[in-house]
Amino acid sequence: MVKEADSRDQIPGTPPSARPSGTRILVLGGGYVGMYTALHLQRRLRGELARGEAEIVVITPDPYMTYQPFLPEAAAGSISPAHVVVPLRRVLSKCRIVIGEATAVDHAKRTATFTTLATEEEGTGAAEITYDELVIAPGSVSRTLPIPGLAEYAIGFKTLEEAIGLRNHVIEQMDIASATRDPALRDAALTFVFVGGGYAGVEALGELEDMARYTSRYYHNLKPTDLKWILVEASDRILPEVGAEMGRYAIRELRSRNIDVRLETRLDSCEDRIARLSDGSRFPTRTVVWTAGVKPSPVLAATDLPRNEHGRLRCTSRLTVEGTGHAWAAGDAAAVPDLTAGSADVLCAPNAQHAVRQAKVLAANLAASLHGRPLKDYAHRYVGSVASLGLHRGVAHVYGRKLKGYPAWLMHRVYHLSRVPTLNRKARVLAEWTLAGLFKREIVSLGSLEHPRAEFESAAGGGTGRNTPKPPRGDSAPRDT
Ligand SMILES: Cc1cc2nc3c(=O)[nH]c(=O)nc-3n(C[C@H](O)[C@H](O)[C@H](O)COP(=O)(O)OP(=O)(O)OC[C@H]3O[C@@H](n4cnc5c(N)ncnc54)[C@H](O)[C@@H]3O)c2cc1C
Repeated sequence: MVKEADSRDQIPGTPPSARPSGTRILVLGGGYVGMYTALHLQRRLRGELARGEAEIVVITPDPYMTYQPFLPEAAAGSISPAHVVVPLRRVLSKCRIVIGEATAVDHAKRTATFTTLATEEEGTGAAEITYDELVIAPGSVSRTLPIPGLAEYAIGFKTLEEAIGLRNHVIEQMDIASATRDPALRDAALTFVFVGGGYAGVEALGELEDMARYTSRYYHNLKPTDLKWILVEASDRILPEVGAEMGRYAIRELRSRNIDVRLETRLDSCEDRIARLSDGSRFPTRTVVWTAGVKPSPVLAATDLPRNEHGRLRCTSRLTVEGTGHAWAAGDAAAVPDLTAGSADVLCAPNAQHAVRQAKVLAANLAASLHGRPLKDYAHRYVGSVASLGLHRGVAHVYGRKLKGYPAWLMHRVYHLSRVPTLNRKARVLAEWTLAGLFKREIVSLGSLEHPRAEFESAAGGGTGRNTPKPPRGDSAPRDT
C-alpha cells in the first residue's frame, strides 16, 4: 500500500513537507455517510494512518455533521442548535477536514475540484485534489418543482439554518400580527402552509404548531385559534414510513389540533404571497415550507460516474459505483439495490437508517479492498419508523409494533438519543430535555442574530435599523417585507 512520494497537489493549509505518499482516500460530504465512513475508516486503518501509508481527506461545506431527525425539535426550541450538530474536527481527529464544496469529479483522472472560502477570497478559482479512493456522499437537496413563486417565497427544511430561521420567522410573524392594525396582514402573518406529508414536513409542522400555540399565551391579543396551519399533501396519505394505519392516526391527531390537512391536493402557486392550491382554495400567507421530497445532490451531474434516471449514482450491493474501480457511494446520493426486497429493481430508500448502516459496510469494504480481502454485500431490512407530532405526541411503527401518543413520542426520544452520535451530544441533549421538563419553554425569536451589523449600521447612519424590513435574501428564506 505504500507509494512513492508523488507530485500530487496539496491539501489546503498543509506544508509541502507534510505531503503524504500513501493511499489518499477522498470523502466528499460530511453528513451521515461521510462522517460515519471516515470514522470507521480511521479506526480500521489506524496503523496505516499512523505510519503515513494512508490519509483520509474529508471535503464538506460545514465543519459539522447535522443530525437531521433533530431539526424539528431544534425549530421548536427543545434542543439548542449547537447540540443538533457533531463537530467533525473533533470526531474525525485522524482525518484532514477541508471546509469546501466539491464542484466536479473526473474519476478517470482520479481528480476532484472544489472551492473553499479561501479560494473565493484569493480569487484563484476552484482547487484540485487527486485521490486513490473516492467516497462520494453529498446526500440530497430539496426536490422542487417549477411552481410560480416557490423559489422566491418558500423555504426548505433540510438544514440547521432553515430550521432555526423558520423558528425565528414563525415567532416574528406572531410579533407582526400582534402589532399590526391591518387585518389582512395579520391574517397572512398567522397562516402557515407546509407542503409535503413525509416525516420532515409533518414533524416540522407538528413541532412548530406546538411551539407557536404555547408561545401565543404570552401575547395579549393572540389566541391559538387565530393561527392557521395547513398541510398540503399530493397523495392520499401522510407519513408513509409508519404505515397506513398510523398515517391515518397522525391525520386525526393533527386535525384534532385544528390543523387543516389537505390530501390529494397540490400547491399550484405561491406568487404574490398567496398560496393557491389545486382544490381551488387560496391563502394569503408569508410562510410556505416546502418538504415535498428530495433529489440527489446536483454535484453528481458534474462527475463522470454513472447515474440512474433519478440522478442517483448507480451502485452495487457492495457499495462500489457500478462499472468503476476505486469509487464508493452510499446514502441519499446512491442507488443501492435493496437485497432484502426480493426484486432486483427495488432500491434502498433515502433515509438515515440505511445511510448509517451503509457507511459501516462501505468502510469495511474499502478497508478490505486495500488489504486484498473479499467484499461483503449490504443488506438491511427496513425496521420501520418513529415520528414526533409535537411535545408528548407521536406515532411509531417499528419491528411490527404500532404505538401512538405519549408512548410513541417517548420511543422517538429514546431511539434518537441512542442514535445521535457521540456521548457528548447524548448527554447535552438529555440535559436539555430534562431542563425543559422543569422550566418553561423559550419563546423568543433571535432572528436579529442573522443581521448582526444592523444595529451598528443604524448607529453609524448608514443602515436601516433592526426593525426596518430587510432586503430579500439571495437564498430561499422567507422574506420579511
Ligand atoms: C428534517 C429531516 C428529518 C429526518 N428524519 C429522519 C428520520 O427520522 N429517520 C430517518 O431514517 N431519516 C430521516 N431523515 C433523512 C436522513 O437525514 C437522510 O436520509 C440522511 O441524512 C442521508 O445521509 P447522507 O449522508 O446521504 O446525506 P446528508 O446527511 O445530507 O449529508 C450530505 C453531506 O454532504 C455535504 N455536501 C453536499 N454537497 C456537497 C459538495 N458539493 N461537496 C462536498 N460536500 C457536499 C452536505 O453539506 C452534507 O454534509 C430526515 C431528514 C430531514 C431533512
